[in-house]
Amino acid sequence: MATGVAPTVTLNNGRQMPQLGLGTWLSLEGEAKEAVKYAIDIGYRHIDCAMLYGNEKEIGEAVREKIADGTVKREDLFITTKLWNMFHEYEQVVPTCKKSLENLGLDYVDLYLIHWPVAQKLTEIDPLNPFGLGNAVIIKHDFTETWKGMEECVRLGLTKSIGLSNFNSVQVLRILDVAKIMPVTNQIEVNPHLNQKKLIKFCKDRNIVITAYSPFGSPARTWAKPGQPEIAFDHPTFVKIGEKYGKTSSQVILRYLIDIGTVPIPKSTNKERLKLNLHVFDFKLDEDDISAIDAMNMDHRAVHALDLVESDDYPFKNVEF
Ligand code: NAP
Repeated sequence: MATGVAPTVTLNNGRQMPQLGLGTWLSLEGEAKEAVKYAIDIGYRHIDCAMLYGNEKEIGEAVREKIADGTVKREDLFITTKLWNMFHEYEQVVPTCKKSLENLGLDYVDLYLIHWPVAQKLTEIDPLNPFGLGNAVIIKHDFTETWKGMEECVRLGLTKSIGLSNFNSVQVLRILDVAKIMPVTNQIEVNPHLNQKKLIKFCKDRNIVITAYSPFGSPARTWAKPGQPEIAFDHPTFVKIGEKYGKTSSQVILRYLIDIGTVPIPKSTNKERLKLNLHVFDFKLDEDDISAIDAMNMDHRAVHALDLVESDDYPFKNVEF
């Protein structure tokens, strides 16, 4: 598989996942399709989607056009999508996965993730939302039941692998207690301000790969407040390390995430930045570089999902990591 630029990591089911993927959250209508087509042209083979992002349809069109014009075969690509919080009931999981496949226009995805460990219920459909989503309230629901639905998706051939996203260590253990099919990854926020060393080790010890979302601290997030720490590309630590290897600060950050054992999924719809972000496999940081970036950790989260905080399953409280 994967004749792209990124090498692959072997998952616990023996499948290969390219070590860098393309993020697509906030890839807006009209730009997501072109960005994905261009990304595939230059060698991206791993694309991170979610029903919530509202652009599965455009991304699927891009993927299918690139298969039709012979640039790639379906088996060269690693496509991820995610089950949204409103569809956690066991009976909802398979139909929701099928809905994502219909949006994407694909027969299967490579990876299907539970987007958050928190369940919600739809209270009011937003007529403008193309996927029937809208306002929701938090409900109590056992996510191990959701996991059984995820396993059913594998048995039906709807996805090759299944995994978690935004699960803390205690929640990962609860899944491992019931799993007949192991989660291959936990997709969590990792960047120089939140380096997640403990959760990375915890998952690695259990043969679960960490996918690193918001590698640049999600600078375009809508809830950012003035005065909050932002990852600065002109920070002297990144600049100095970049000069040593002839790389940009953004490339140094992505290489750091790879060198601490994660699979980063930077989002961009800009051609220059798409190119830069992929070309991080011709250098490697040394121990001093890694220690210097480790020292920037402040356990500061960019993605808090504060609307989920009232749930007992909110992953970022009452737990060390
Ligand atoms: P991110 O990748 O940290 O940052 C993306 C932002 O940085 C965009 O505004 C992008 O703008 C800009 N950018 C990209 N490359 C750059 C470069 N080389 N130099 C300077 N700026 C650059 O943020 P993210 O979108 O939050 O995270 C990445 C992906 O992770 C998402 O798209 C999504 O797929 C996934 N994610 C998952 C979850 C989850 O709950 N599982 C949560 C958040 C994110 P341009 O597009 O203009 O380049």
